[in-house]
Amino acid sequence: MAYTEQRVTSIRKWSDKTFSFTTTRPADFQFENGEFVTLGLRHEGKLIARAYSIVSCNDADYLEFLSIHVPDGPLTSRLVQVREGEGVLINSKATGSLTLKYVQPGRNLYLLATGTGLAPFISLICDPELYQRYEKVVLVHTVRTQVELAYRNEIKALSNARLLYVPTVTREPFETTQRVTDLFISGALFSKLGLPPADPEFDRVMICGNPHMLQEMRAYLEAHGWTMTSHKGVGNFTVEKAFVLHNED
Ligand SMILES: Cc1cc2nc3c(=O)[nH]c(=O)nc-3n(C[C@H](O)[C@H](O)[C@H](O)COP(=O)(O)OP(=O)(O)OC[C@H]3O[C@@H](n4cnc5c(N)ncnc54)[C@H](O)[C@@H]3O)c2cc1C
Repeated sequence: MAYTEQRVTSIRKWSDKTFSFTTTRPADFQFENGEFVTLGLRHEGKLIARAYSIVSCNDADYLEFLSIHVPDGPLTSRLVQVREGEGVLINSKATGSLTLKYVQPGRNLYLLATGTGLAPFISLICDPELYQRYEKVVLVHTVRTQVELAYRNEIKALSNARLLYVPTVTREPFETTQRVTDLFISGALFSKLGLPPADPEFDRVMICGNPHMLQEMRAYLEAHGWTMTSHKGVGNFTVEKAFVLHNED
């Protein structure tokens, strides 16, 4: 796997637990909006690399990432200390299951995210093709505290009759305090937005979040007539883990 060193060009801190950074983009680096890449740092001669969704759009001349800060995490405890002008190693191959080719066209597209699972959807919502394929795009982002609502102003600025943004905060008073799964499963999301309930025949769903949220949404959707994209074919919903739990069996 080919890594090249890219220079960090800006850093933005959202909360104690989250930050974003931009880097230079290798001239020949290609990706689809919604994909992830492996990036890392060299420490004591060894490469520590992790999967990261690309936040920036594929027509931008820089790359942007949204990162968690895990205090004892092998990569992020070090990544958080990287300053502007310093280097990170970025793999040349991007991949992932949250691109437009992995979900059928349809009526409304639901982008459901928790935490840093928002990252691939920031890249997707800047894609003009998204709005050719779907009538409305609904982006729901659940976090614990308001400061973790990364890119909130940017998303609000992009929002219009075709792009509906529903931020939700679960551990602080906020306009919406329900989790994304509860909003979707209870149907409160649709009545809130004045949309017909999501229907597997017409609507599509992309999910990126913590492993428990993914499990819950997948179980619900599959029990209600939805089909997940897999090697068997492109379905009406597609998922990607925002991270893997290393501390659990
Ligand atoms: C397909 C894919 C895409 C990913 N995209 C991103 C991304 O865009 N941004 C990002 O920050 N991370 C992302 N991750 C997670 C990332 O790969 C690392 O796990 C993360 O950077 C922490 O690295 P670490 O070495 O510090 O700790 P690790 O040893 O990798 O993780 C330690 C523990 O921290 C927790 N954790 C890890 N990542 C997260 C997270 N993102 N949110 C909440 N808790 C977490 C988990 O409990 C994990 O067991 C992605 C993972 C996958 C599989």
